[in-house]
Order: sequence, then C-alpha cells, then structure tokens
Amino acid sequence: MRDPVIREFLLGFWKIHILYHAEEQGVYGQWMIEELGHHGYRVSAGTMYPLLARMARRGWLKSTEPKGSRDARVYRITPAGAKVLERLRASLAELQHEVRPSTARKSRRAARRRA
Ligand SMILES: [Zn+2]
Repeated sequence: MRDPVIREFLLGFWKIHILYHAEEQGVYGQWMIEELGHHGYRVSAGTMYPLLARMARRGWLKSTEPKGSRDARVYRITPAGAKVLERLRASLAELQHEVRPSTARKSRRAARRRA
C-alpha cells in the first residue's frame, strides 16, 4: 500500500463502510471487496482480510467459524462496534457539513469579501 492517501484516509472510510454493512447483514471478505469496488475503490484481498481480522481483534466485529472449508467467514457487528459506528456517524455528519463543496465555496467567497 504505497499510496499515502489510502493509508492516511481511505482505510478509515473503508472501516466505517465495513461496520455499516456488518450491522446491516454481516459481511465476508470477498463480498466487501466487491461492495467497495461498486463504490470505485480497488481493495485487494491482502488489505481486506487483515482489516477484518484487526477489527475483530478490536472487538468491533465477531465472526463465526465457517462450517465447511469452502464457506466464507462471516463477520457481524458487536455491541462495541455498533457504539463505534454511532459515534462515527455523528463525526461524519459534522465533517460532511463543514467540508462539502458548496459550503467551502461560500466560505471562500465570504473570505474574499472580507479581504
Ligand atoms: Zn456499501
């Protein structure tokens, strides 16, 4: 992962996305890779699987042992993960309100007027 934007920002976005879908219906690695693909992100298995495992170690996701060797490991959100998601939702809304393009344009115009 050489792109610093991925490491510094997008990884966080993807984790929020994972929490969201883990709360909705549960996720597995390949499904999540495809889901992020629909959103225009190319995430490798080498990034996704350790990410899911790390989030499980943190106690935000819980997986059940796959029944067969060909079955996917499904991750679901835990109560602790749901709390994190709730907290991030508030931060996201606040951030979105601040940085969305129309607001930025307006405040830049206002700054120019003041100058
Ligand atoms: Zn999604």
